[in-house]
Amino acid sequence: MKCEIISVGSELTSGQSLDTNSQWLSLRLAEVGIGVGWHTTIADDLEANIDAFRIASRRAKLVLITGGLGPTQDDLTREALARAAGVELVFDPESLAHIEELFTRRGRTMPNRNRVQAYFPATAEPIRNDHGTAPGVWMSLGDAHFAAMPGVPSEMFAMFREQVLPRVRSLGLTGGVLIQRKINTFGAGESSVEEKLFDITRRGHVPEVGITASDAVISLRILGRGATEGEALAQIEPVEKTIRERLGDLVFGVERDDLHHAVAALLGGKRLTLSVAESLTAGLVCDRLASVPGASAWLRGGITAYADRVKVEQLGVPQALLDQHGAVSAEVAEAMAVGIRTRFGTDLGLSTTGLAGPDSDGSGKPVGLVYVGLAWEGGSETATVSWMGTRQEIRSRTARLALNKLRLHLIGERGA
Ligand code: AMP
Ligand code: MG
Repeated sequence: MKCEIISVGSELTSGQSLDTNSQWLSLRLAEVGIGVGWHTTIADDLEANIDAFRIASRRAKLVLITGGLGPTQDDLTREALARAAGVELVFDPESLAHIEELFTRRGRTMPNRNRVQAYFPATAEPIRNDHGTAPGVWMSLGDAHFAAMPGVPSEMFAMFREQVLPRVRSLGLTGGVLIQRKINTFGAGESSVEEKLFDITRRGHVPEVGITASDAVISLRILGRGATEGEALAQIEPVEKTIRERLGDLVFGVERDDLHHAVAALLGGKRLTLSVAESLTAGLVCDRLASVPGASAWLRGGITAYADRVKVEQLGVPQALLDQHGAVSAEVAEAMAVGIRTRFGTDLGLSTTGLAGPDSDGSGKPVGLVYVGLAWEGGSETATVSWMGTRQEIRSRTARLALNKLRLHLIGERGA
């Protein structure tokens, strides 16, 4: 059984605003075991709406529509549903009384236009809206069950929970639970992660495992299904274990965890202090670390060392090193990390340097070339990557690269 979610509104198709209703509904449906096969977004256009409703009625068992139920001329959902079903719109006095009462309660008289909200396709059941003027619509079209709800998110949330979900349940369309587990990795590309997991990311694998990439973080998404939460989790657990075994230290967290969360937990647990010297990232690394509550226990501070002179004067990077290798080099990254660690008296020193672009610096080094440095008592190391991407992507990914370098050191996998 697959569900289709349809969002109606030219403000969505024009790109002016983002369709967040579909995302919310998909998450709620997953909780009751209903998978969503389609998200469709349509402009405020009658023919387009009729077409979309007909297509949905042929391929989905349940169709949830949001938007287009207002009183204005661009609100066409009621009419499009009637036309798609080949029935008339009929007046529902009870709905009108409810809408009028809402206006009276607010000390206003109902504009005549709002009468249209009391018209419904002849075969439909009106859904009462206790939180706004637009009633919803519940009806069948072919073999599919349709629910149309207001576009305003807060009204839609309430109508879905209080009115639509109980109807969907009583049809017996809900079945168990869908649970998503997201496992986040850093340090390898999408295809090389997939290569290690080829057998479990293949189509048709149970449970379903998908790969997504976002700003150099590659995530695996496991979709567990079961009659109960326990069953869905039981489907996820062995696959998560396999993924963790095969990917090893590439895995740094789950769900919304980012690298700075992983580093924060490690630093806190080991009672180690950190300082950061940032050229390319100009405070991004510090900013992310400081976003974690309790950061003051282990984050001592940082220096944004953009100009060579600041690297020399504030971090003690030898001028000769800058002259010989340039600011974007492993040697300078290392000297920056050692310098900040010494000057701030911390257990660890972390640094970044690189070419964010879009223009090169005339040194012949390519845009996207970055180095991060890490210094600890008794040693120092660097890592380098040549990123592709925009200036902001290169800066953001480099912040992650630095945090990952530190993470690997703290878990004892590299140069500890
Ligand atoms: P409508 O019911 O079409 O009159 O929509 C009323 C308002 O709800 C719109 O102006 C948007 O601000 C909001 N809205 C409609 N559809 C969505 C959607 N899919 N996601 C988020 N907000 C929406
Ligand atoms: Mg609209």
